Amino acid sequence: GFNCGIVGLPNVGKSTLFNALTKSGIDAENFPFCTIEPNVGIVPMPDPRLDALAAIVKPQKVLPTTMEFVDIAGLVAGASKGEGLGNKFLANIRETQAIAHVVRCFDNDNVIHVANQVDPRADIEIINMELALADLDTVERAIQRLVRVAKGGDKEAIATKAILERIQPHLAEGQPLRSFGLDDDEQRQLKSFGFLTLKPTMYIANVNEDGFEANPYLDVVREIAAEEDAVVVPVCNQLEAEIAELDDDERAMFLDEMGMEEPGLDRVIRAGYGLLGLQTYFTAGVKEVRAWTVKVGATAPEAAGVIHTDFQKGFIRAEVIAYDDFVTLGGEQGAKDAGKWRLEGKEYVVKDGDVIHFRFNV
Ligand code: GDP
Repeated sequence: GFNCGIVGLPNVGKSTLFNALTKSGIDAENFPFCTIEPNVGIVPMPDPRLDALAAIVKPQKVLPTTMEFVDIAGLVAGASKGEGLGNKFLANIRETQAIAHVVRCFDNDNVIHVANQVDPRADIEIINMELALADLDTVERAIQRLVRVAKGGDKEAIATKAILERIQPHLAEGQPLRSFGLDDDEQRQLKSFGFLTLKPTMYIANVNEDGFEANPYLDVVREIAAEEDAVVVPVCNQLEAEIAELDDDERAMFLDEMGMEEPGLDRVIRAGYGLLGLQTYFTAGVKEVRAWTVKVGATAPEAAGVIHTDFQKGFIRAEVIAYDDFVTLGGEQGAKDAGKWRLEGKEYVVKDGDVIHFRFNV
C-alpha cells in the first residue's frame, strides 16, 4: 500500500492528528490483508464520486480506497547520532513513501514546548537537520564503498560517486536533498539509497481554531515550504480530533456551524495522495462499487494488478468509461448507447476517475 509517515518534534500535535485520522478510519476487518500495528492507521480517501457512482449502480457495498499513515513519534535532536531510540525512528521513516511533518503553529500556555517557545523555523530546522544528517551518513558510507569500485574504472560507480560528492556539502549544512535541484536522471541514480530528505514532504501547520489567518507562525512555514518546494496544509488538529469523535449527522451540523466544507483531515489525506502522485480509478459492479489507487501513468494491466496479480498476468482488455460519462449518461448501458464505452489494450494509460471492468484469462 501507499503510506505517509507523520514526524515532528514532541508536543506539536502528532498524536492528536494521528488519533483523529484513525478515528475517522474504517474497520480493519474490511481490509484483512493489512497488518495493523498500533502506530499504523488505514485511512479512507474521501471521494464524493463514490457516492455518485453508488447512486447509479446501487451496489451491496461501497469501498473507498485507502492511504496508510504511520505515527513516527520520538524524532528529537540527536536521532541521527543514534541517541535514544533515534535510529529506530529513522529506520521507520525510511520505510515510508512520503513525509507529513507536523509543525506547531499555536500558542498554548498549558502545552510545554520542548524549546520553551513556539518557533516554527527553529523546529523545522531541528527535524530537517536530523534527517539530513542521516542522509549524510548514508552518503559518506556509500562514497567509501564506491572509491574502491571507481578505481577499477566502473563508469556507473564513478558517476554515482560524483553525484554523492556534490550533494554531500548540502546535507552537511542540514539542507534537504529536495531543495538541491537534482534532475530526473540524477534522482533515478540515487533512488536505491532511499534518502529521507528526498521523500515528498508536506508541512502540516498545526494552528489554533482561529489561527488560519493572520498567523505569523503559519507564514513562516509557508516561506520555508516555498524555498524547498514542499506543500503546506494548515489544520487545527485539536478541532479535527473533536470532529472525528462525532457521528455523521453531528459532524455535518458541526462543519456547517464552523463554515467548513469538509473536515481538515480530508485535505491532509488528499495532500498525501497528491504528494505520492496517486490517482483513483473505480470498479462499479452490483456487488461492490470500489475505488482503487494507482500511480499516475499506470497502464491498464498495472491497474488490474492492484486488484489481483492474476488480473495483471492474465490481462486481455479493459472496458473503460470515463467517470463523467458514466455519471451523466446514467451508467454502463447509457454510456454504451452514447458510444462512450471503450475497449482498451495493454498500452492504455489509466486516467483519474476511469470506471473499469477488466477482462482476463485465469
Ligand atoms: P505530540 O507529542 O506531537 O504527539 O503532541 P500531542 O498530539 O500529544 O499534543 C500535545 C498537546 O498539544 C496536547 O495537550 C494537545 O491537546 C495539544 N494540542 C494539539 N493540537 C493543538 C491545537 O491545534 N491547538 C491547541 N491549543 N492545542 C493543541
